[in-house]
Amino acid sequence: METIRNIVIVGGGTAGWMTAAALSKILGPQYADITLVESEDIGTVGVGEATIPQINIFNRLLGLKEDDFIRQTNGTFKLGIEFVDWARKGHSYFHPFGPYGFDMKGVSFHAFWQKLQTLGVSDSISDYNLQAVAARDGKFMRPVQVENSPLSTIAYAFHFDAGLYAKFLRRFSEGLGAQRIEGRIVSADKNADTGFLEAVVLNDGRRIEGDLFIDCSGFRGLLIGQQMGVGYEDWSKWLPNNRAWAVPTERVPSRSEALGQNKYANPTPYTRSTAREAGWQWRIPLQHRTGNGYVFSNNFIDEQAAMDTLLQNLDAKPLKDPMLIKFQGGHRHKFWEKNVVAIGLASGFMEPLESTSIHLIQVGIAKLLQMFPDKGFEQADINRYNMMSVREYEYIRDFLVLHFNQTERDDSEYWRYCRNMELPPRLQEKYDLFQSRGRIFRENEELFNDTSWFAVMVGQGMTWRGYDPVADVMTDEDVKRQLFGIKDAIRKSSDYMPTHEDFIRANCAMD
Ligand code: FAD
Repeated sequence: METIRNIVIVGGGTAGWMTAAALSKILGPQYADITLVESEDIGTVGVGEATIPQINIFNRLLGLKEDDFIRQTNGTFKLGIEFVDWARKGHSYFHPFGPYGFDMKGVSFHAFWQKLQTLGVSDSISDYNLQAVAARDGKFMRPVQVENSPLSTIAYAFHFDAGLYAKFLRRFSEGLGAQRIEGRIVSADKNADTGFLEAVVLNDGRRIEGDLFIDCSGFRGLLIGQQMGVGYEDWSKWLPNNRAWAVPTERVPSRSEALGQNKYANPTPYTRSTAREAGWQWRIPLQHRTGNGYVFSNNFIDEQAAMDTLLQNLDAKPLKDPMLIKFQGGHRHKFWEKNVVAIGLASGFMEPLESTSIHLIQVGIAKLLQMFPDKGFEQADINRYNMMSVREYEYIRDFLVLHFNQTERDDSEYWRYCRNMELPPRLQEKYDLFQSRGRIFRENEELFNDTSWFAVMVGQGMTWRGYDPVADVMTDEDVKRQLFGIKDAIRKSSDYMPTHEDFIRANCAMD
């Protein structure tokens, strides 16, 4: 086989354009022809607006100027997720980016915090994370290099308009030579002997030939499912949500706007997730509007009732009618089959509770580049890609299940189901280790680190029998002194930071 030079990307949503942008940047037109086919009639899923800090790696890979990117996508900054009513009604906690505390000589900070609790100090773990404190204060700034200051460790991600993000990446990719073809794919030609895909065929009869096809066609899985016949691993028993209503609302005017100063309320520098009777509601603030949605299971609430719940729980006027999206938690049995690689929703989906899908797109692209085929396709590479992809999915799934399963809520059939569901294989061991001595072990290739697991385990109300004895390397008094010092430094750092709104206005306000 000839060297792989002709790459066809099917789909122009977030997955398609992220893939086109990265391949154009890394491979460039001198190495490969990159063609993206999309259909405006079909459109994109239109959601997917909250990210996690790893997106900064992707942006750096592309060499993006962050302020331009924020400005052109009407973006805001995100320091974590607030979970409201998840452990029980009336309770909330914060899953922050960035670590708790400071370097504690190799001992995880949370062991000292747990020791502090046994000393009768009931400080929230959130008091020990700058992102959590700044989020509560409505503050934001990028990290600055100040020695021994929490300000040097600020970790952040973004909220952005998904449609504008795709357009932004399209401009970027076309600028690097990627070619876009508008058209609806109606069939594909396969080699009768090898089963490899040779071309996709458009409704006007055009044939787009390729050596490597990247299926970014969304839930349809046009190539990976319909053409290559790869089936779907259904995780509904662990991730029962299968529907979402999404609706944008106006920005919330601030008090100063009411006074005629044309200002809007400080957009929260975090995503909010509020647990509801049969799922949860997201709230994602952008510069020009707020994204809202109710993710639910239609086995526990009907679609109309879910839509009513969403509309009754908005804090501003809807800008259009809610849109219903149907999905199924799980993934393709194979992410890569012969010369077709599925990226984005075509490859699988886990509900958006921890904003992981865009990250999984990025990881799919990175792995593809790592194992980019040369002359022909090596089955060993394909197997490795598939194995790594499944693992990544499984670790994220377990983290998601934790949120639903560890709760005091039993006020609906939905929550009773979640509390009593059969756990995925490794999760019980995570629980056992935490409940014994508050220990958390991160597996290889696992996305979420111990800060994340700790935040959600504690936030969801899990308890532990004793703290890790390694925290006894410090006396009770030293633990108190050191932790109070850290808390104070974090408090002062947040006080120093500008409001999120002021930061955006000074650096990256939309035109
Ligand atoms: P799509 O956006 O569906 O794009 C598919 C593309 O394929 C389109 O361009 C379409 O025109 C094209 N296409 C399809 N069929 C054909 C055809 N026959 N011919 C030509 N073109 C075709 N992710 C996050 O990271 N954070 C979030 O906060 C988040 N929230 C979400 C909330 C919900 C309710 C859902 C469902 C998803 C969420 N996601 C989130 C996931 C995120 O939306 C997706 O990962 C992301 O948008 C990528 O979608 P995609 O590009 O794979 O598919």
